[in-house]
Amino acid sequence: MSQIICIANQKGGVGKTTTATNLAAAFAMAGKRTLLVDLDPQGNATTGIGVDKKALERTLYHALMGEAALADVVCETAVEGLSVAPGRIELAGFEVEFVDRPERERVVKSLLATVSGDYDFILMDCPPALSLLTINAMTAATSLIIPLQCEFYALEGLGQLVATIRRIKKSLNPRLGIAGILLTMFDSRINLSRQVADEAGKHFKELVFETRIPRNVRLGEAPSFGKPILVYDPASSGAKSYLELAREIIGTRKKA
Ligand code: ATP
Ligand code: MG
Repeated sequence: MSQIICIANQKGGVGKTTTATNLAAAFAMAGKRTLLVDLDPQGNATTGIGVDKKALERTLYHALMGEAALADVVCETAVEGLSVAPGRIELAGFEVEFVDRPERERVVKSLLATVSGDYDFILMDCPPALSLLTINAMTAATSLIIPLQCEFYALEGLGQLVATIRRIKKSLNPRLGIAGILLTMFDSRINLSRQVADEAGKHFKELVFETRIPRNVRLGEAPSFGKPILVYDPASSGAKSYLELAREIIGTRKKA
């Protein structure tokens, strides 16, 4: 059985995709068979890991629609042990086409069940919305990572996210736990960063990962080369932090 981790926060630009791609690569480089699932119509995780979306005949969307098997849309990446179920703009159509279907929240779960024996870790990158795609991801997941950008407003909207998680846990996925809240773009020289970290610690206590992801320009550059940070610049602080996060997750259990 694989560990299925959903990376979600309806706030945009908080580091979901950066975390999904780099954590997935870190798992694979630690010898874990890993599948990165790109549930965002923006397809950033797909591009960031080096897959040319435009050249693909079929994507995750076609698997969700029942037009292809998931295994048939999965692509290999340049990182050994890391595969990706690519996402592209047509994924936006899923929200519309499934709105009235029964079991619409369980489509991703059923799809992942067809490959779960093939992977140790499945990581899902979600769009910045509490949309049907995100609800599908939370329904399929065994645990959740919530990236929190160390900026003003970071904690705003978290109440709504936590309420959604509770609702899904109650009705759709009782096994869903929070793997952790991840502080991203942390800069210890900036007061605000430290304040957000303190606030998150006060509210969420041991749910906050010990590992913090620093603000690091190399993390911003890597996706434009289609490379995870551990390949692009293994000596960077960003690379070290995602490796550390992978170790923290592999070594720990769900926190809530
Ligand atoms: P969206 O909500 O649009 O999907 P997201 O939550 O997936 O966004 P990312 O795309 O991972 O967020 O990050 C937003 C921007 O910040 C990107 O340009 C990314 O390269 C940059 N970024 C993310 N994490 C870091 C970091 N630790 N240091 C520096 N830049 C970062
Ligand atoms: Mg993203």
